[in-house]
Amino acid sequence: MMLSVEDALSRVMAAVRQPLPERVGLLQALDRVLAEAIVSPRDVPPWNNSAMDGYAVRSQDTPGTLRVLETIAAGSVPSQTVGPGTCSRIMTGAPMPSGADAVVMIERTDGGHEQVEIQVQARLDEHIRPQGGDISTGQQVLQPGRVLGPGELGLISSLGFPSVLVAQRPRVAILSTGDEVVETGWPLQPGQIYSSNTITLAALVRRAGAEPVHCGIAPDEPAGLRASLQACLRSDLILTTGGVSVGDFDFVKDVFDDVGATLDFWKVAMKPGKPLAFGTISGIPCFGLPGNPVSCMVNFLQFVRPVLRKTLGDPRPHLPVVTARLTHRLPKRPGRVHMSRVVLGSDHKGGWTATPTMTQSSGVLMSMAQADALTVLPVDAGAQEAGSLIRVQVLDWRFMDQTGPDYGLPGHGPLEDHGC
Ligand code: AMP
Ligand code: MG
Repeated sequence: MMLSVEDALSRVMAAVRQPLPERVGLLQALDRVLAEAIVSPRDVPPWNNSAMDGYAVRSQDTPGTLRVLETIAAGSVPSQTVGPGTCSRIMTGAPMPSGADAVVMIERTDGGHEQVEIQVQARLDEHIRPQGGDISTGQQVLQPGRVLGPGELGLISSLGFPSVLVAQRPRVAILSTGDEVVETGWPLQPGQIYSSNTITLAALVRRAGAEPVHCGIAPDEPAGLRASLQACLRSDLILTTGGVSVGDFDFVKDVFDDVGATLDFWKVAMKPGKPLAFGTISGIPCFGLPGNPVSCMVNFLQFVRPVLRKTLGDPRPHLPVVTARLTHRLPKRPGRVHMSRVVLGSDHKGGWTATPTMTQSSGVLMSMAQADALTVLPVDAGAQEAGSLIRVQVLDWRFMDQTGPDYGLPGHGPLEDHGC
């Protein structure tokens, strides 16, 4: 029986374990998933402070000539109260003195150290950054599940936390199978090929935020495969490749049974990537991915990556999907979801185009190396004609214009300023 992609996905997602937290330094937390709520223990800013270099004044005394009490530098505290007819020179970020209710920027004043002429009427609270204006004590600033980027790390640092709780990286065992498959770097015998799935999967695992554990290549022979599988049992998740297509791997199933695995062999209504085995070994989720390199990658991206992201506590475990216009016809018969490899481009009108890669064969890895996205052609859809709008799952954003933004320099478009 063929399983729908949705059913297969919900079955694997149901097997996700709770993420375990660990405490790491802030830079180690980059791109990782927050495992705690960040609650501010303080007001930010901690006190009313000046947004300008200028003079802290009583607004009712402006405009006018005022006596200067002191200079308040950033990093110091005021020692005087601003009373009638007086003011204090103040620098950006310095705490406001009591008595003052506005800051006048230095450019709107004239004068020296003893006294100063304030040339404008100051508005109440003008150029004052209020205590707690950004964040107040007790405010929850980040939720668990947030992926930590440079901005989030700066925010956490500004609250005084030198470390943070993030989800542990699951350890993912990667075991290739096949008598014909050889570790890259070793000599090839007749009939053998180099493994590509091993490194591809390790890279996919790392990009998904988990830790790959290389478990080598198992032979198509029960004792060797059993030994290799045993070595995988120290991991949080197991990936095998090869031997899941129909017929030729009955003993593989036996070996899985031997080590206590409950494994279902599925046919998923998806192209490429139809064969998929999924189950648990000693409670450890285990995926048997197809050997064909493209099927292996597509299967990982549809099923394993969401499981890993959910395990990490990411509330958005799926790759982004956008709409693009097909530049060439894509043949298809109803019955399976087609995840064809496409190269994305811009139509120069704010939309995206999708051009199928040269080959769509599930054995040709070049198509994955070229592709920016996978089509998501629905199960019931037929052939898609050139010009039709389709949904694509984006793998990589390198297709976007990266020549640098248009900053509106003179002679470059509508922002041109002819005034001198
Ligand atoms: P299998 O699923 O074992 O029948 O393998 C399907 C196809 O994928 C065969 O052509 C295998 O040689 C190839 N294959 C299996 N494992 C790998 C691997 N680790 N790297 C590259 N190709 C592989
Ligand atoms: Mg094989």
